[in-house]
Amino acid sequence: MRLSRYFLPVLKETPAEAQIASHRLMLRAGMIRQQAAGIYSWLPLGFRVLRRIEQVVHEEQQRVGHIPMLMPTLQPADLWRESGRYDDYGAEMLRIRDRHKRDLLYGPTNEEMITDVFRAHVASYRDLPLTLYHIQWKFRDEIRPRFGVMRGREFLMKDGYTFDIDKDAALHAYNRHMLSYLRTYERMGLTAIPMRADSGPIGGDDTHEFLVLAQTGESEVFYDDRVTALRLGARDIDHDDPAAVADICAEFTSLYARTDETHDEAAFAQVPEDHRKVGRGIEVGQIFYFGTKYSEPMGARVVNDRGERVPVHMGSHGIGVSRLVGAIIEASHDERGIIWPEGVTPFHVGIVNLKQGDGAADSACEGLYRTLTALGLAPLYDDRDERAGAKFATMDLIGLPWRVTVGPRGLAAGKVELTCRRTGETEEMSPEAVVSRLGQIYG
Ligand code: ATP
Ligand code: MG
Repeated sequence: MRLSRYFLPVLKETPAEAQIASHRLMLRAGMIRQQAAGIYSWLPLGFRVLRRIEQVVHEEQQRVGHIPMLMPTLQPADLWRESGRYDDYGAEMLRIRDRHKRDLLYGPTNEEMITDVFRAHVASYRDLPLTLYHIQWKFRDEIRPRFGVMRGREFLMKDGYTFDIDKDAALHAYNRHMLSYLRTYERMGLTAIPMRADSGPIGGDDTHEFLVLAQTGESEVFYDDRVTALRLGARDIDHDDPAAVADICAEFTSLYARTDETHDEAAFAQVPEDHRKVGRGIEVGQIFYFGTKYSEPMGARVVNDRGERVPVHMGSHGIGVSRLVGAIIEASHDERGIIWPEGVTPFHVGIVNLKQGDGAADSACEGLYRTLTALGLAPLYDDRDERAGAKFATMDLIGLPWRVTVGPRGLAAGKVELTCRRTGETEEMSPEAVVSRLGQIYG
């Protein structure tokens, strides 16, 4: 993308309404525009990040065998009357009536609808296990929408639903989800700690939330800090092996880590004092096993291997896709702006032309732009006729992990500069070396 042809409405002033860094930076970097309380337009730069996060979520869901689909945002109230949640859900549910006076709602989650899909099409244990998921906009009429996309009213969520014949199989699905989530967060450069949680209106006994540590998080968290060093890394996991999957989950959940909702002072006191930490965290996902809570009242039954019709065991699993954009920025920024992890950056590299109009600089930039694009990378080329300082400030604000700086003086010696946004380190090298380095980084 050439910046002169792009739509990047960066703000000079710091918006007064934004209380936390991620919200301020998303507004300043021209990523979002608020249209109503808790409702945002995703401007082109923000939209690119949102799409990259979605892509990582899709890849990690499909890696473990989950099947993508799409359910609508609007749902008939009657489905929710079957489960009893139409009345229970309360003021957070946005209720709508159509021209035929039929009650609808803007989905805050999809347990009822997926249960309806399941009961219409699946009748035998032979079709299990089954995990379906979608990434779709949700609406919850939050009492206090705030912090930008972190607590919106309309927000994008990946929600997945597991169907299994019994509790053991369902707990395997739960554990498999835990690993897929851990890998998803790692790819985004985040440390998200699974913490035993409270189930809230979804219901059920087994549930973990995933929290990213951040001072501005809304949850108070209590943890053994050795949990922050755990990584899945590149290990090869057989996701169909319940024991192997359970062992890795145990590795990530045996150290103490809880939110204030489930905190247990006595158990926390057992953690060695120098590892005992109290902090704050942002909830970026949650997984639930809730058994037959929906399948029982809604009649989602399958025939088991003894010929009996039994209610299916279910779980649901959510990742806050739009909240993650904010959470990543909370975890990765400095006083100059955002610092995108390579796994979700909107553009892989920024090209700054120090002297637009200079023949050598222009053609070196064009060459880099074309070669990088041909490699499958997305460069953002600042080809505007602007001062170098202003170009650097924009690049720092929008936080691309790498910047190539091209100017007539360096080019005279055959060199350009490659700068790492995170460390600020700059190396001089030939344009060809820049291309091969970036190829390796993103390879
Ligand atoms: P919270 O406790 O933050 O209100 P929740 O527990 O009600 O969230 P879940 O039903 O677990 O939310 O939804 C799954 C994920 O969707 C959450 O972990 C969170 O990342 C995201 N999410 C929930 N509510 C919002 C919101 N209002 N704005 C943005 N993301 C949200
Ligand atoms: Mg939750």
